[in-house]
Amino acid sequence: MCGIVGYIGKRQALPIGLAGLETLEYRGYDSAGFAICNPGRVTLVKQVGYVQQLKDKIENQNIAGNLCILHTRWATHGTPNEVNAHPHHDCAGRVYLVHNGIIENYKELKNYLGQRGHAFISETDTEVMPHLIEELLKDENDFKTALFNALKMIEGTYAFAIINKEDPHTLYAARLSSPLVIGVGNEENFLASDPSALIESTRKVIYLKDGEVAEMTKDSIVITDLDQRPTPLKVEQLEWTLEQAQKGNFPHFMLKEIFEGPEVVKAAIQGRLKPREHLVKLGGLELAQKRLNAMRRLIILACGTSYYAGLVGEYIFEEIAGIPTEVHFASEFRYREEPFEPGTVALAISQSGETADTLAALRKAKKAGLLTLGLVNVVGSTIARETDAGVYNHAGPEIGVASTKAFLSQLTTLILMALYVSKKRGAFHTALMQELMEIPKKIQSILDASEQIQQLAATYATHSNFLFLGRRYNYPVALEGALKLKEISYIHAEGYGAGEMKHGPIAMVGPDFPTIAVVPSNSVSDKMYSNIQEIKARRGPMIAVATEGDEHISSLADHVLYIPKTLEPLEPLLSIVPLQLFAYYMGTKRGYNVDRPRNLAKSVTVE
Ligand code: GLU
Repeated sequence: MCGIVGYIGKRQALPIGLAGLETLEYRGYDSAGFAICNPGRVTLVKQVGYVQQLKDKIENQNIAGNLCILHTRWATHGTPNEVNAHPHHDCAGRVYLVHNGIIENYKELKNYLGQRGHAFISETDTEVMPHLIEELLKDENDFKTALFNALKMIEGTYAFAIINKEDPHTLYAARLSSPLVIGVGNEENFLASDPSALIESTRKVIYLKDGEVAEMTKDSIVITDLDQRPTPLKVEQLEWTLEQAQKGNFPHFMLKEIFEGPEVVKAAIQGRLKPREHLVKLGGLELAQKRLNAMRRLIILACGTSYYAGLVGEYIFEEIAGIPTEVHFASEFRYREEPFEPGTVALAISQSGETADTLAALRKAKKAGLLTLGLVNVVGSTIARETDAGVYNHAGPEIGVASTKAFLSQLTTLILMALYVSKKRGAFHTALMQELMEIPKKIQSILDASEQIQQLAATYATHSNFLFLGRRYNYPVALEGALKLKEISYIHAEGYGAGEMKHGPIAMVGPDFPTIAVVPSNSVSDKMYSNIQEIKARRGPMIAVATEGDEHISSLADHVLYIPKTLEPLEPLLSIVPLQLFAYYMGTKRGYNVDRPRNLAKSVTVE
């Protein structure tokens, strides 16, 4: 949540900074702003709305400077207006900073600083920080000492990029729980809250860790802890390509990312799956092999779409590996008093690897002595670093706020993980491995028929309610399909286990309340047919996602979206695709910006 960009170097900072900020806009987009430093002067510009509106505001202005900090906000404290937009500054206009996170003790600090004569203009928690630094500068006129002391006084979470007007050659950055990554350049250095903003400028990155502060000039980077003890620089190579972070010929990132489905499944299995040798190779799990051998129970911790991937994972691990599995909302798991049996392993799933609740749940599991595993997309992210072992899902940057391709790659990787830990190897396992190799082609065939889904969306675009039903592996698919529709088209949608439908939701069903039933031909399709009949009996319109060749379904449903036949544990990899497309086309048909749905932001770094 919230995008931060910083630049210090030989070039003009603003165009580079704004280009980076646009890449990060999916992290927050209620307002944007920047502060640019030219010796002796700081120019501050803020604007409500998107980065484009900020750019329009400064059109034809020549704002020079080689040091710049920029921000795109996802408000936590204070309405999204120009005053509350970042950067914030102190009374004297010496300290400027942008912030991602929440300063939890801001009220106490604001009172204290108010009594000492500081005047606040915004409603944000962030604004206390520049004033606190200013206050501490009174005691000792050394900027660094004041900065470090201020960081020690604040409670909560933060990623800061900070400018001291009196030193136009230095960019400061600090992090606690909210991500920051430094891009290493030649006579220039960059800062961003997500590596996708750096791809255009450099591939050499340093991930800042919790409790670290960076002092950057155009030629140097020094990282220390809060006691100013230096930490060694670990420069890593970014593997993402520029093309992956751009829309190409697609109108939206969301559509591009849905169409990347076949590629992300391939990328997740590449080099890992060897059906002929009945083998799955996951180097990241080998580290924990001994403790994995002793695994007796798995708990999956996640939020949002990753949680639904985890729910599919529950069925996968139980059927493929015979391991009792439970999935928890990370935000609830944190506050449970659950006793853990020996042999319990925790698996955290997060696209960004920075999700605040998932991270906190993971830390709790670790503290309880559990082996912790991660399934994340962003290499080097906090969850990736803090888990004992883990697997990347290698989906490349996901820019659309509503997760699509990451979900597919998470499902693929969960299947690999279950096959990896399974002590059994039978015909079923071999068949799964072989069939997994066929999945990319099968996803492609669904994408090739996307026009039918577009037409269907045109038919249903004015409806205000939808029910999504599924059973077993397709129950989480129904939940995820409903979530996608809500996120993108702001239509009320409920996902339900089809068997549960008669215990309440059926009361809503009628001619204006369509149902989408996920009903591939599998072990539970007969039960699904009965549930569909129950809805038809109440004159509810019915859309079915069914297996090619299922003739029975066409007599039951008003519309059928066909998917190719596959093995039941792999069905979600296919059945979710029409639902993602349906949400996309409903959202665009209703005229919404599907890449930036209202009130949402990617990489949820607040609790
Ligand atoms: N808490 C700060 C605010 O509301 C930062 C929000 C963000 O991370 O964008 O302004």
